[in-house]
Amino acid sequence: MSSKIFKIAALAGDGIGPEVMREAIKVLRAVEKKFPLQFQITEAPVGWAGIDAAGKALPDATLALCRQSDSILFGSVGLPDRDPTIPKEERPERAALLRLRKEFGLFANLRPVRLPKELAHACPLAKERQGDGIDILVVRELTGGMYFGQPKKTEEIPGGHRAIDTMVYTTPEIERIAHVAFKAAQLRRKKVTSIDKANVLENGVLWREVVTRVGKNYPDVALEHMFVDNGAMQLMLRPTQFDVMLCENMFGDILSDEAAALAGSLGMLPSASLGATNGGNTFGFYEPAGGTAPDIAGKNLANPIAQILSVAMLLRYSFGENAAASAIDDAVGKAIATGHRTGDIFSASEPKATRVGTSLMGDVIASAV
Ligand code: NAD
Repeated sequence: MSSKIFKIAALAGDGIGPEVMREAIKVLRAVEKKFPLQFQITEAPVGWAGIDAAGKALPDATLALCRQSDSILFGSVGLPDRDPTIPKEERPERAALLRLRKEFGLFANLRPVRLPKELAHACPLAKERQGDGIDILVVRELTGGMYFGQPKKTEEIPGGHRAIDTMVYTTPEIERIAHVAFKAAQLRRKKVTSIDKANVLENGVLWREVVTRVGKNYPDVALEHMFVDNGAMQLMLRPTQFDVMLCENMFGDILSDEAAALAGSLGMLPSASLGATNGGNTFGFYEPAGGTAPDIAGKNLANPIAQILSVAMLLRYSFGENAAASAIDDAVGKAIATGHRTGDIFSASEPKATRVGTSLMGDVIASAV
């Protein structure tokens, strides 16, 4: 049987990036053995690694590689203790991350939050609020709303200053993110909760109208609307009611971090940022939700699961390979169910748990695939 070939740019970055990327690639190689898929993985420097290799956080050759690839698998960038004299716009967080977002028109941010039953101890909520485990996908609009709306400025007025931010959304911007949310829900439990503030904001009224209209194209997906303040509260009271939460940029920024706290560790949380779909292909940028974790870098302590689940998202959302993606999700589930724990999810209260390092966790997951 001939294999489908996909090109992946692997940009490990700084801190724990290279360690967790190694494990993600290990898992991709295991997927190749099980499925008729072939991955052409090319690694390139980014972040401080890019500055060291080519004088720039996003070297030209790295950007060129990304343009020739089907998707980007990203580690993390930024080392707070390195050269404070480098101007903000040249530091990795801006020069690499924001540049890539802009370059590839990444307008949809997907942040799944999954708390397996076995990790109930890592969740700050009482066990009775966790049901059979928490499994939420936050879909956040990434390029509009208050963070980018114009005018955006601070001006002098008698007696002080006036700061202005503008919240602005257009119908097409809402439509395209709504389609992403409904399509994602079709691959899950088929429910979208759309978050807005339609009782106060003009933007909220338009958001609700457009999402309702788009939802009519997805009769298999249930749609409900919720005000953002209630959404924040419901995440704490009854997180199991949510499947997909659809949010504008700022609400999604805040609620996705609130939801992330439920999973217990940043080391468990993948993310995807998607651009437009052309001819059935969706270019995507996949990375762990956490940063470079300088406190544990280079010590074989990092949890590689966030990076490995980012690979599963890449296969699902960019390559449409749902069976291979589910095989990775299941393998992670199996590693957890058999008691394998990196330090961030280890608890002495679990008698059958074994503390493992980054590379052993990767081995266990790869062999479960
Ligand atoms: P961080 O996410 O790197 O670390 C926060 C805490 O979470 C640390 O205690 C860390 O050890 C832990 N942690 C994170 N990932 C983990 C993993 N996989 N396994 C186990 N523990 C993990 O956040 P920070 O310390 O605020 O930031 C460090 C650097 O990372 C900064 O330079 C920041 O700008 C950068 N950063 C980059 C990205 C990105 O590349 N997308 C995202 C966030 C932060």
